[in-house]
Amino acid sequence: MRVKARAKINWTLDILGQREDGYHLMDMLMQSVSLADTITLTPASEVTITTGGYPKLPANERNLAYRAAIALQNATGCRKGAAIHVEKRIPVGAGMGGGSADAAGVLAGLNQLWETGLNQQELEAIGLTLGADVPFCLRGGLTRTTGIGEKMVSLPCSRLYDLVVIQPCRGLSTKEVFTAYHEKADIPRPATGDAQLALENGDAALLAESLGNVLQAVSQDKRPPIGDAIAALKQRGAIAALMTGSGSAVFGVFESEEDAREAARRLRSRWASTFYCRTCQESVLITD
Ligand code: ATP
Repeated sequence: MRVKARAKINWTLDILGQREDGYHLMDMLMQSVSLADTITLTPASEVTITTGGYPKLPANERNLAYRAAIALQNATGCRKGAAIHVEKRIPVGAGMGGGSADAAGVLAGLNQLWETGLNQQELEAIGLTLGADVPFCLRGGLTRTTGIGEKMVSLPCSRLYDLVVIQPCRGLSTKEVFTAYHEKADIPRPATGDAQLALENGDAALLAESLGNVLQAVSQDKRPPIGDAIAALKQRGAIAALMTGSGSAVFGVFESEEDAREAARRLRSRWASTFYCRTCQESVLITD
């Protein structure tokens, strides 16, 4: 079985508060994008994992794809196995939910392969135990996500957008970014309601005005290339450009596929990790 596990971007990322246990309460507009890892699942007597495409990715029990398979076994009592192969294309430590996408792909794929029969809600509940972005990666499309990542409302979106994604420097630790966020004053907030309306109505001008990520300022302070890449995307014609998640990847929104592909071609000579992609209506795709 082959599974395409798609990455996500944050159109907006806002923090509304913090629970007593330290988890942050978020308000985010998230969308799946066509940039994807390919996961191959082959029936086997036990769960094993191999990886390709990114040499430093753990090919052991620390890999979220492996942990997803074990979590499914534990939740269902199923003792079947699978040889999991993850071919990585989504930049790692980029705020694009790469590990979460793989976990979602494995949960959805093995639920079919092992005939464990869990419904979407049950899969999302297991997903949340693996990471805050896993429920979104199981659901996909465009959502407004709140709570710690478990409250999701799927939204209609009237058009898809052409994007250029750049990972201009190595990833930041999410913990480090959140700590610095609490120490910084006067952080500009996204206009999440307006951005939602803009996405629902396909209003690119309103979208460009209302996007934002409250973690961008601190990530940019720690990694100046993030700001450089955002400026370069705008200079190449992006109608909006911002950071996704806690970084370090940034994305620019373009008026047409042609503009986006041309910008990606030019920006790749400065940042090798530059990709053209498109927003999507779904995340996990099981192909055979
Ligand atoms: P998010 O957007 O959910 O915050 P991210 O895109 O910033 O995530 P990931 O690429 O998911 O970050 O990876 C973060 C860490 O998780 C890396 O240090 C990596 O070694 C580890 N990891 C474990 N499994 C995976 C996987 N299947 N794919 C990517 N990273 C993984």
